[in-house]
Amino acid sequence: MDASVLERLKEIVGEQYLSTREDVLLAYSMSASTGYDPVLPAAVVRPADTREVAEVLRVANEHGIPVTPRCGGSSLQGEVVPQEGGLVVDLLRLRDITLFRDLRSVRVGAGVTFAALDRYLADHDLWVPIFPESALVCTLAGNVAVNGAGPGSSRYGCIAEMVLGLEVVLADGRIVQTGTEANPDAPGPYLRYAFGPDLTGLFIGSLGTLGIITAVSLKTFRRIHHFDYNTYGFDTAGAAERFVLELKENDIGVLFASIYEGRILEFFLDMLGEEYGVPQHDWPPYTVSATIGRLREDQLASDVALARRICEDIGGHVIGITELPRGEWDDRMRTFVRSSYAHGWHWRILYHHQPPSNWHRSVEEIWAVLDEYGLLGHTAGFLSGHGSYNFYPHCYFYPTDPDEEAKVRSAHAELARRLFATGAVPFKLAPYWVAGVEEMAPYLDLLRQLKRALDPNGILNPGVLGGL
Ligand SMILES: Cc1cc2nc3c(=O)[nH]c(=O)nc-3n(C[C@H](O)[C@H](O)[C@H](O)COP(=O)(O)OP(=O)(O)OC[C@H]3O[C@@H](n4cnc5c(N)ncnc54)[C@H](O)[C@@H]3O)c2cc1C
Repeated sequence: MDASVLERLKEIVGEQYLSTREDVLLAYSMSASTGYDPVLPAAVVRPADTREVAEVLRVANEHGIPVTPRCGGSSLQGEVVPQEGGLVVDLLRLRDITLFRDLRSVRVGAGVTFAALDRYLADHDLWVPIFPESALVCTLAGNVAVNGAGPGSSRYGCIAEMVLGLEVVLADGRIVQTGTEANPDAPGPYLRYAFGPDLTGLFIGSLGTLGIITAVSLKTFRRIHHFDYNTYGFDTAGAAERFVLELKENDIGVLFASIYEGRILEFFLDMLGEEYGVPQHDWPPYTVSATIGRLREDQLASDVALARRICEDIGGHVIGITELPRGEWDDRMRTFVRSSYAHGWHWRILYHHQPPSNWHRSVEEIWAVLDEYGLLGHTAGFLSGHGSYNFYPHCYFYPTDPDEEAKVRSAHAELARRLFATGAVPFKLAPYWVAGVEEMAPYLDLLRQLKRALDPNGILNPGVLGGL
């Protein structure tokens, strides 16, 4: 990067917040995306506030320098791996939190993690009820940029459903506020769908390619303290699918529900069962592990009784092992990722959504590909809202085995193609989905036009959003 550009960036953020040191660049060359190759950027800046972010973008735009916005660096699909010779804009210094108690909302800077926000809100007996399992390092802004989900999503949906407005810096340095806060006289965030079309939604899931999110306004809810954990057994996939649908249809306060095939449950419990205190059990072909939560005990008791009745009406049985869902909820479901870390595996993940009634289709395709390529992997996921199920299958490989890694890359692309054909949809439009999405030409064209309009020089995370 040109010395004069570096000088201008240094003037904006201050000398200690710009780095071109190789050891620092190395740290920013990679992320939690273990299945993707690291790339060294030319420089990293750590702006203090929105104004500095805007000035940094103005300089980058003037010089056509590719920019990678970065928060927690915990994303798993290579979306925060920088461009060679590019600039990483690290937003972790934007750490303000403002509570609007009577508006039932909170505004956080881009550097605020889920854990920091949860600690803050707990003092007010409130929460934002969705927690990615990466909550300790993952930021609200980063999760909005990927439209993530996690425990809590079974009731409340993906993180998008929590968002009331965004402050975004565009590629040319313009600062835009969406939602009610666009009106400077508004008391704060209280409605997302203000001022016509949903411009907030444009940036959700945009993977840092349309603007840099500097603040996120979100709904808050009174914190739930009454939980029930249980496991429910079924002989067929269809019965397990029907059960999770009925939980939703009957408005049961299910915060987190997962369907496990017996063999996948055994695979995870082999690794973590003892730590979670899960007793040995002859698991049925399909198990639903569920956490139900309600504000009041009487509501919870009624929901629990209804869940039991629905399970039995469908021909299932209440297993009564509570440690698995309790471990998932209390440990924020780190089960799946920890199992891979514990073994030193790397992996490729393939996030997608299916309707719960089509759960078996994803599972069938995942196994077909794993078997064809002779790979180890899993089929895990969770109920993620009104009528969708969020899958995040992994294909594992040992990083010391380049042949196996190459096989995983091919299998991953093949799986994306097959899942698309089952009607599955991505919520992170990573490049490997493009083959399917290309068939939706008008959609991709519109996306391309929007990208061009907002970022005419193509500096923001080029190539990341569906290859745009
Ligand atoms: C152990 C583990 C568990 C995980 N569990 C979950 C889970 O349960 N649910 C889930 O959804 N994800 C999960 N993930 C993936 C990851 O945590 C999410 O993708 C997360 O949202 C990334 O947030 P981040 O702050 O780390 O963002 P980063 O990784 O820094 O960035 C993610 C993407 O957003 C862009 N971006 C970052 N900040 C901004 C910004 N301020 N403005 C615009 N664009 C920006 C980046 O360019 C990149 O494209 C997990 C990851 C790990 C390692």
